[in-house]
Amino acid sequence: MSQKEQDFNEFSTSTQPGTTTSKRRAWGILRTLAVGCLVVTAFNILFSRYFYTPKMYRLTARNKELLVKYRILHDKINEMSSTLDQIKHRDNSVYRPLFGIDTMSVPGIYTSYPESKYAPLQGYAYSELMTDTWMMMDQAARRLYLQSRSLDELQVLSADKEKMATALPAIMPINRKALHGDHIGAFGWRNHPIYHRYIFHKGIDLGSDRGTPVYSAGDGVVSFVNARGTGRRGYGRHIVIDHGFGYKTKYAHLHTVDVTEGQLVKRGELIGTVGNTGGSTGPHLHYEVLYMGTPVNPINYFRRDMASEDFERIVESANATTFETEFGTND
Ligand SMILES: [Zn+2]
Repeated sequence: MSQKEQDFNEFSTSTQPGTTTSKRRAWGILRTLAVGCLVVTAFNILFSRYFYTPKMYRLTARNKELLVKYRILHDKINEMSSTLDQIKHRDNSVYRPLFGIDTMSVPGIYTSYPESKYAPLQGYAYSELMTDTWMMMDQAARRLYLQSRSLDELQVLSADKEKMATALPAIMPINRKALHGDHIGAFGWRNHPIYHRYIFHKGIDLGSDRGTPVYSAGDGVVSFVNARGTGRRGYGRHIVIDHGFGYKTKYAHLHTVDVTEGQLVKRGELIGTVGNTGGSTGPHLHYEVLYMGTPVNPINYFRRDMASEDFERIVESANATTFETEFGTND
């Protein structure tokens, strides 16, 4: 071994212990760091388990606020849906029949969207509330669409509105003051007080004194008159007026008939007087509105210009009162 090599060896062996020390020191630092990290992490986990950080406090408060807002939204949409129910009811029972058209139906309008549409809302603490809210909102949107289509249709039909407005049976055929308030017989299925079975009453009965004037409910032509009205059955003396647009009205149990077949009449024109002829047990007017031959509830056609409490009274007092020995079965 040359001197050079010896020197080198000595040098390398002498440097060996130095390298080991620095490695150990590095490991030591790493270990300390790792342990430190673990301790900090464990502390964090424990801390966050028992205490909120300020950020979490803020988020929790915000979360509660959002939940409250969501619930309010849910209630508001619910409220809106019931308003839509009322609009739909008015549309189907008043406005559309006024123009002589049936209830509008758009296929699938009430079918819910597939559940997959609401899948992104699943898996949260308040999924049920969120899904319900969204479903109600979707339903409301569809129903609004349906209503707007219905209005479009009515708009087209209203082109003929002036003629139609005076033709439709929109007034009560006797003076309201002449009406015996609590003696209105309701339209529809009723338990007959004499026969004790359910019979369909095709009109409403307006109790009033004999001789009370009876007016045509709308412009039209007298299409049928029975001025004899003999016997104790049926409609007695009665009049049918054809108003066009699919509408007819019938005025029965009259005392006098003051029109003839084929006569043109205006709304509010005197056509006869209240009586007790035919299958009737007391003076009253049996008044029917027929649309395409089917009896409909005349109350739905009365113009709403009467005071609303008056209208409510008429609707509410329409009860099982009857003046007829038979109804619905005659004619
Ligand atoms: Zn009747």
